[in-house]
Amino acid sequence: MTVSTLDWGTTYRVTVLDLGLACCGVEVMAALEGGRPHDLAALGVDVAHAAGEAHVLIVSGTVTDVMLPAVIATYQEMPEPRYVLSVGACSNTGGPYWDSYSVTKGIDQALPVHVAVPGCPPRPEALLEGLAALHRLVS
Ligand code: SF4
Repeated sequence: MTVSTLDWGTTYRVTVLDLGLACCGVEVMAALEGGRPHDLAALGVDVAHAAGEAHVLIVSGTVTDVMLPAVIATYQEMPEPRYVLSVGACSNTGGPYWDSYSVTKGIDQALPVHVAVPGCPPRPEALLEGLAALHRLVS
C-alpha cells in the first residue's frame, strides 16, 4: 500500500460499522477484530457497535431484497457525514448470485457507495486499500 495509512492513523480517525451479511462479512470481521497483522486501530480505524456511532458503513456479503430495508435503515441511523464501503462481489453487483430472484444486484442501487472493494472474497489487504481509498476521497 503506497498510501500513508500511518499518517492517517495519526491525523484522522474513522469509525466503521460492519454489516456482514455473508462470507465476505467473515473476512471483514477477521480484519477488524483479528488485530494482527492488520491492527486497524493503530491505523486510525475504530469499530462501532451501533449505527449511531459510525460514519462508515461497511456492507460485506450478499444483500438480499428481504434484508435491503434493514441495510437502508442502518445507513439512515448513521450521523452525517456518512459513507458506504461496499466489500465483495455480492455487495457490489450481486456476485455469483446476480441472477437470483432474491438478491439485490448491488447495494449501490439503494445507497451511495463511495468505494467498492472487488473480490470473492476480498483479502484483508483489499479492505485496507478500500479504507485508504475512502480516506483519500474524504480528506
Ligand atoms: S462475494 Fe463471494 S465471498 Fe463474498 S459474500 Fe459473495 S459469495 Fe461470499
